[in-house]
Amino acid sequence: MIDVVMLVGGEETGAASGARFERRNPLDATVASRAPAAGTFDAVRAAEAASQAFVTWRDTGPGQRRALLLLAADCLEAKLPQFVDAMAAETGAAALWANFNVHLGATMLREAAALTTQVAGEVIPSDVPGSLALAVRQPAGVVLGIAPWNAPVILGVRAVATPLACGNTVILKGSENCPRTHQLIAQAFAEAGFPAGVVNYVTNAPEDAGAFVGALIGHPAVRRVNFTGSTRVGKLIAQSCAAHLKPAVLELGGKAPFLVLDDADIDAAVAAAAFSAFANSGQICMSTERLIVDQRIADDFVRRFAAKAASLPVGDPRGSQPVVLGSVIGAGTVEHCNALIDDALAKGASLAAGGKSRSTLMPATVLDGVTRTMRIYHEESFGPVKGIVRVRGDAEAIACANDNEYGLAAAVFSRDIARAWNVARRIESGICHINGPTVHDEAQMPFGGVKGSGFGRFGGRAGIHEFTDLRWMTVQTAARHYPF
Ligand code: NAD
Repeated sequence: MIDVVMLVGGEETGAASGARFERRNPLDATVASRAPAAGTFDAVRAAEAASQAFVTWRDTGPGQRRALLLLAADCLEAKLPQFVDAMAAETGAAALWANFNVHLGATMLREAAALTTQVAGEVIPSDVPGSLALAVRQPAGVVLGIAPWNAPVILGVRAVATPLACGNTVILKGSENCPRTHQLIAQAFAEAGFPAGVVNYVTNAPEDAGAFVGALIGHPAVRRVNFTGSTRVGKLIAQSCAAHLKPAVLELGGKAPFLVLDDADIDAAVAAAAFSAFANSGQICMSTERLIVDQRIADDFVRRFAAKAASLPVGDPRGSQPVVLGSVIGAGTVEHCNALIDDALAKGASLAAGGKSRSTLMPATVLDGVTRTMRIYHEESFGPVKGIVRVRGDAEAIACANDNEYGLAAAVFSRDIARAWNVARRIESGICHINGPTVHDEAQMPFGGVKGSGFGRFGGRAGIHEFTDLRWMTVQTAARHYPF
């Protein structure tokens, strides 16, 4: 068990009240960490520390910001063993997933380092004689980043990397499910030498989330909010931001469709679908959640996909054998997934692989013959339970892909690229890959969703737009004529 501390104004600290909460391992309920249960007083303290640090950080040159971000990437990578331990203890994640998290998290910091010189504006021709007119991008101020547990390193880093590159100071609010994992990110920034108050880290008990986040959003120094998490909480954050007129980037839930057209390379489709469906036990926002397969090749695809699913090792990630599926995050996921299986089977689906589970070690499960009467057709499983919908032709496949409240990631498999492109263009999602997995993230790409998956984009130049203010500024270089 490890005691977690927050980082506020460069100091490691507990909650002002002294209160703490525990995070237990999802598999054996041993205490994985104990973290500060921060309250409104702590929210104000963090916002004030970040606001004070902004005064100098905003004027720090891009070269210095770049150097610090590059150092933070190295410090993050050096903590790989601690991340592997912390993720296994707090979230039950397999080492494979922890490794990928740290690798991509470091890449995101290096990409953010490269962005420091890309915070550019433009010169705009003015009709006023002698007026030099500029569009200037400036950091917005304090950015609040709220990160979830499922890809804790990637999403914790993503919440703050581009905002920092642009010259903002940040408050990272860790997840109640992995305060120790998220603290390692804050420590990497501190070890890299970021000035006090530029990166702040806070934690709260689950029951205090609404009030604590509300206090942070409501603080006048906080100028931007980004939130990665469920659509349910995303809507609450959006309402809170609207009440304070604060822009938000919302990266929410998903129900990614994976379309297999009748001319697809089945081996390639099975490999990509298995990776997309079962990496981190299906607990990824981009996870393939619906396999939409043309009836003509469905028998062949289902047979091979089910065999692949059945071959994936499940086990305690803290053991000596490498596993693909570790423990899911908690009993709630088991109950939810079991209920989805019961509902689908009762309404006529058949089990092609896996099945219900009694513990948080859940096998890769495939349900064939899923129809829109079933809950699993519509609801995010956020676990290793996936449904196959059989369709006739491309138009039906597209209609099925769009018959959902979410719109984050999608994939289309076909040997005819023009055909796949025309299908992909008509899918309502922020991200779509042709002949590639739905689970695919790179630091420089515009990442984000449409519909119930939220709005705003992380990554590359799109991220700069989200975390800067675009100002119109002029310099009058000649005598100006006025009408009176
Ligand atoms: P969650 O929404 O339950 O929790 C996320 C955060 O919300 C936590 O930090 C929590 O403190 C905070 N929170 C909870 N209640 C709150 C309230 N009333 N007011 C303000 N804040 C509150 O999400 P989760 O279960 O941790 O993550 C899983 C979800 O996240 C899935 O739906 C998944 O698809 C989504 N997700 C999306 C992306 C993306 O990039 N689009 C990435 C990863 C996960």
